[in-house]
Amino acid sequence: MRWEAVIGLEVHAQMLTETKIFCGCSTRFGAEPNTQTCQVCIGMPGVLPVLNRKALEFAIRTGIATNCAISGYSRFARKNYFYPDLPKGYQISQYEHPICEHGHIEIVVDGEVRRIGITRIHMEEDAGKNIHEGTGGYSYVDLNRTGVPLMEIVSEPDIRSPKEAAEYMRKLRSIVRYLGVCDGNLEQGSLRCDANVSVRPFGQQEFGTRAEVKNINSFRYVEKAIEYEIKRQIKVIEDGEKIVQETRLWDANKGITESMRSKEEAHDYRYFPDPDLVPITVDRKWVDEIRASLPELPDAKRHRFVSNYGLPEYDADLLTSERSLAEWFEEAVRAGAQAKAASNWIMGDLTKLLNEENRSINECQIRPAQLAGMLQLVDKGTISGKIAKTVFDEMYKTGKDAETIVKEKGLIQISDSSEIEKVIDDIIVKSPKEAERFRAGDEKLLGFFVGQAMKAMKGKANPQILNELLRKKLS
Ligand code: ADP
Ligand code: MG
Ligand code: ZN
Repeated sequence: MRWEAVIGLEVHAQMLTETKIFCGCSTRFGAEPNTQTCQVCIGMPGVLPVLNRKALEFAIRTGIATNCAISGYSRFARKNYFYPDLPKGYQISQYEHPICEHGHIEIVVDGEVRRIGITRIHMEEDAGKNIHEGTGGYSYVDLNRTGVPLMEIVSEPDIRSPKEAAEYMRKLRSIVRYLGVCDGNLEQGSLRCDANVSVRPFGQQEFGTRAEVKNINSFRYVEKAIEYEIKRQIKVIEDGEKIVQETRLWDANKGITESMRSKEEAHDYRYFPDPDLVPITVDRKWVDEIRASLPELPDAKRHRFVSNYGLPEYDADLLTSERSLAEWFEEAVRAGAQAKAASNWIMGDLTKLLNEENRSINECQIRPAQLAGMLQLVDKGTISGKIAKTVFDEMYKTGKDAETIVKEKGLIQISDSSEIEKVIDDIIVKSPKEAERFRAGDEKLLGFFVGQAMKAMKGKANPQILNELLRKKLS
């Protein structure tokens, strides 16, 4: 029997507001424990929370960008549970009336566009942090993070593979970063992902029982944890046992998920509307203003890159994943670069060089117009595609123009037939056996001669002319 995976993600995004969601304390990361707290966020009785308008605006921005309906009426609810990092004994969240609902985003997987539904986006406050290590046997609580604004973005169970899940995460990250509402850092936890996973026989309509996997803090682990969980569930079922609905923890060191607790149900939390906060009524005019202020988003940009520049979906998706990368590309094209050639260089050599040094495109010494300049040298035949790689490396290191580098290093391509002929004649004389075998039909040996000639000419021979001349001389 073949099994199909069904996956839904719950993503928590820490919003980039200056202050907390219900008080004026700073959200700055890394301060001394408990220095960014007040009566409201440490849960003193008798104090009242007041909603941070910026947090609401950020949630609405995200809702619009993910094609959600923005609720005209929205409310906060108390989610009751006990834990030392939650001083009030409840988390202020949203339950029946989230701020955004019924959205979707698009992802590109294996060159194909897939639409993933967004069930809801709601606002909530973060909890504090318990510290157990390096504290001499004591446990401490740091409440600096208590009350930092979060959005929880809940997907429909529309995802069907670990790869799609990772693509979905990437797209969400890209959207919140375009919007400037979250920095999208998985490692530091400003973007967190819980994966709900179940399996069912192919063709079956109903979903299987799901497990929720927590503690996934990188893109690689999104794939790995879900992959593991799918295999585990298939094995459980094939062994004749039943999946239990539960919460599991991803252990990155062991590469497995482990049972943490049986799954709590919504009613366990005794949700009820928070009487301390007035319901939110959202002014349509404000929503329209926010909509008008949004930048061009990744999906729109991708569509435009495909239709304007004739790029494949794959290229367009990659180039639009970061706003600055997309802008770099467009600047190169405006400076005269052919779109697909620019895309190849950006996705290939440039990305490789940047990744090696863990740099972003903003820290790149090559200016987009300089890539265009180099591509023109290739088009004119001044340098070969192979030499272009050397030139590009040098441009990356020095920030110099391609033309300057070519001149300084004497890298101009040799297209002079007589010069190339001399080299070829010499090699043929030195390699009589190979020449004979080639003439007898061993085509592979052309590569040998090209290699020898290129070596002798330090890679500068015009490859097309070299090939033609070799065939002529060896026929
Ligand atoms: P909870 O908050 O209790 O985890 P939700 O109803 O909010 O429950 O669902 C959480 C996530 O689980 C959603 O992303 C949803 O798409 C996903 N989900 C629901 N049922 C399944 C299932 N059978 N298999 C996989 N994912 C599921
Ligand atoms: Mg859940
Ligand atoms: Zn506070």
